[in-house]
Amino acid sequence: MDLKLSYKNAERILEVEDGEVPYLRYPLLSDTGIVKHGFSTRLGGVSEGCYASMNLSFTRGDREEDVRENFCRIADAIGVRCEDMVFSQQTHTSNVRVVTEADRGMGITRPLAWQDVDGLVTDVPGICLVTFYADCVPLFFVDPVKKVIGLSHSGWRGTVAKIGKETVRKMREVYGCDPGDILAAVGPSICQDCYEVSEEVIRQFQEHFSEKDWASLFYKKENGKYQMDLWRANEMIFLESGIKTEHIAVTNICTHCNSEVLYSHRAMGDQRGNLAAFLALNEET
Ligand SMILES: [Zn+2]
Repeated sequence: MDLKLSYKNAERILEVEDGEVPYLRYPLLSDTGIVKHGFSTRLGGVSEGCYASMNLSFTRGDREEDVRENFCRIADAIGVRCEDMVFSQQTHTSNVRVVTEADRGMGITRPLAWQDVDGLVTDVPGICLVTFYADCVPLFFVDPVKKVIGLSHSGWRGTVAKIGKETVRKMREVYGCDPGDILAAVGPSICQDCYEVSEEVIRQFQEHFSEKDWASLFYKKENGKYQMDLWRANEMIFLESGIKTEHIAVTNICTHCNSEVLYSHRAMGDQRGNLAAFLALNEET
């Protein structure tokens, strides 16, 4: 597959696994040797029309058998199993669910038993956490010491509610993780140049972020709108949670700048598929 991506900078933050079913991954996380993970693209699937081709949503009107085939394909590529997947049910909350052995297959081999779950954490080897995207920000967490992982969906509402911090809090509270050990990544999503927001949205950020940081998060334009940097905001949330700078990777790939190969809500509207993020602890660890 020829995956043509434009990058915001030249750093080696994300790598492309360029097989028949391409996906993106972070060397920061792979290098731990304890996880399998990936972020899908639009390529390598069987869906048609506005869903073409790797749509990973059962709820956007695509044919169920096509979506199932897509999940099989991406699972094979990343090295996880469909029956081990556990899905979020994203509604822009900051709710983080602790996933146990009993949840295996939730969302794919059986109907989801929960709603309003935007973050997932687990310490169960083999279980593959799955969250969904089309411009919103995926947050990956790996604690290589306690062998605990987390995956959270952080759109602007989730970012204002600091779901990243909530995920770290859950990892500390439930599994005794030390934030100083946690590796964290901000995944492919909309960049500041592409993300115009209203003053109403900015007011929410002003309420939840300290004034000294505003200038690095957003700027006002002549039309009265703002350009907002969700990547930087989530990086700040990581730091605020006690994660070390050297343990953080921030994407340099924007979904909107790359809407030919990544689904982007701002670029495509509602007629589109979903991307997905995958994260699983290796079974042999
Ligand atoms: Zn962009």
